[in-house]
Amino acid sequence: RDPRASAGRRYRLGVMGGTFDPIHHGHLVAASEVASRFALDEVVFVPTGQPWQKTDREVSGAEDRYLMTVIATASNPRFSVSRVDIDRPGVTYTYDTLTDLRAERGDDVEMFFITGADALAQMFSWRRVDELFRLAHFVGCTRPGVELTRPAIDAMPADRITLLEIPALSISSTACRARVGQGDPIWYLVPDGIVQYIAKRGLYAEPPMISTPLY
Ligand code: ATP
Ligand code: MG
Repeated sequence: RDPRASAGRRYRLGVMGGTFDPIHHGHLVAASEVASRFALDEVVFVPTGQPWQKTDREVSGAEDRYLMTVIATASNPRFSVSRVDIDRPGVTYTYDTLTDLRAERGDDVEMFFITGADALAQMFSWRRVDELFRLAHFVGCTRPGVELTRPAIDAMPADRITLLEIPALSISSTACRARVGQGDPIWYLVPDGIVQYIAKRGLYAEPPMISTPLY
């Protein structure tokens, strides 16, 4: 048992999966809000391996996405980052993420998988949906521009899924990448350290900048 869990209560672990290319304040607000509302002991951010359903574009290297996630979460004592998905070869499935975290953290841990409304709407195409609901409670956060349709929610087990209204931040990684490519600022959309890291590594630049290998 983790010493940070209060006596007689299971450790409550939030799991925030994402491509994080780059991580932005929308991700951080969602994690913080769910942590507060669900009294989570910790939220672990899990950058995906070869991103699922994103094979249509070049995605930044896993190490860059991992390091940006570390930089963005470093100041919060309840936030951590896991390498389980980037260290597992191949496409990331949420089932594998949750199974690996369960194996790592033990059966005593109660898991809460945090998603935005768009990711939640896609859940039926996820692998082993029924088993997912046994592994974790799902928390779907509102996201500007995404309408969750009633039938999609009604088909999910009501006791294993919660929809949560969070402060609306109309920020996406796609828009951040496009802004960098056009030379528009991303200050205040992402943490300061991420602005600096992107510039230092030449990420998302148009034309592509030749950056030195990380390792
Ligand atoms: P991309 O544009 O590349 O898809 P993204 O901004 O959607 O990037 P992801 O890494 O795909 O970021 O998202 C990880 C998780 O965070 C998903 O569950 C997504 O729904 C959620 N999320 C991302 N941005 C927001 C936001 N602004 N508000 C609420 N949830 C968000
Ligand atoms: Mg997305």
